[in-house]
Amino acid sequence: RAKGHGRGRAEVFDEALRAELTARAELEAAITAALRNGEMQLHYQPVLDVATSRLTGYEALIRWNRPGHGMVPPDSFIPTAEATRLICELDRWVLNEATRQLAEWRAEDPAAADRTLAVNISGRHLAEAGVVDDVLAALAASGFPAELLIVEVTETVLVDDPAAIDNLAALRAHGVSIAIDDFGTGFTSIGQLRSMPVDTLKIDRSFIASAEAGNRELVALIIRAAHTFGLTVVAEGVEEVDQLELLRADACDLVQGYLLSRPLPAAAVSSFRDGAHAPVV
Ligand code: C2E
Ligand code: MG
Ligand code: MG
Ligand code: MG
Repeated sequence: RAKGHGRGRAEVFDEALRAELTARAELEAAITAALRNGEMQLHYQPVLDVATSRLTGYEALIRWNRPGHGMVPPDSFIPTAEATRLICELDRWVLNEATRQLAEWRAEDPAAADRTLAVNISGRHLAEAGVVDDVLAALAASGFPAELLIVEVTETVLVDDPAAIDNLAALRAHGVSIAIDDFGTGFTSIGQLRSMPVDTLKIDRSFIASAEAGNRELVALIIRAAHTFGLTVVAEGVEEVDQLELLRADACDLVQGYLLSRPLPAAAVSSFRDGAHAPVV
């Protein structure tokens, strides 16, 4: 775009590009340091069974407690980490910390013995040969059972990456479950999922929140089709009682959302009272 508009424009363009690259390099260095300095934290969002309202497990969500910046949400730094191999290091830290924490809760509380742990793994990392070993190493180090671990991936991973699909299948062969995150925001059809190594479908919160005409029917249809293929369905971003009631009527399996609980720091997780959200119907 800078071409053909004389030197002035080209220089401005170069400068903007240079500034952007510098900012990105600085952010990368800061993320690397943050991992070493213990500035990364995990919050845990409760996942509930729709029919019984019981707690079934947690999704681990990363936050960066960055000095001078407050609590930085993942969308502000995951994309930068994904542009490099840094995301692999970050995912490994999450896997190790989350399985260690869940193993600790299981040891402390018999009621926590069956609770699942869902961890988000970047598509970039999933395409790497080492991802299966990274997951298995975290399980071995923590003693957390593979059968309770859920790896969450976005649907784009399934569409354009045979290596990633092989890795998902390998994880599954070790007992780990696979969930498709943000379902409905990409271009995957449920029919495609039938032949994929997938156990769970998470309906994106944009479908849950929207009151658009026909949306409720769409969600009901997704749930029914997913069940036909033997998939478990999770609704994300449930914020209102009405939404929960519709999902219950549509036989959705599991729910997450601010209505039930925000993601909680580890120290606050025990304050979530299981069974306090009895069915409203
Ligand atoms: P996600 O995996 O789809 O996670 C759900 C996001 O929705 C989380 O945002 C969660 O805090 C938020 N959420 C949950 N309930 C509600 C609700 O009722 N209403 C609304 N408006 N939002 C709700 P968060 O924690 O900011 O994470 C954003 C995304 O960053 C995640 O989307 C995931 O793609 C990515 N991410 C988070 N943690 C990790 C991680 O440890 N590793 C990797 N690779 N990605 C991560
Ligand atoms: Mg997720
Ligand atoms: Mg999601
Ligand atoms: Mg997401």
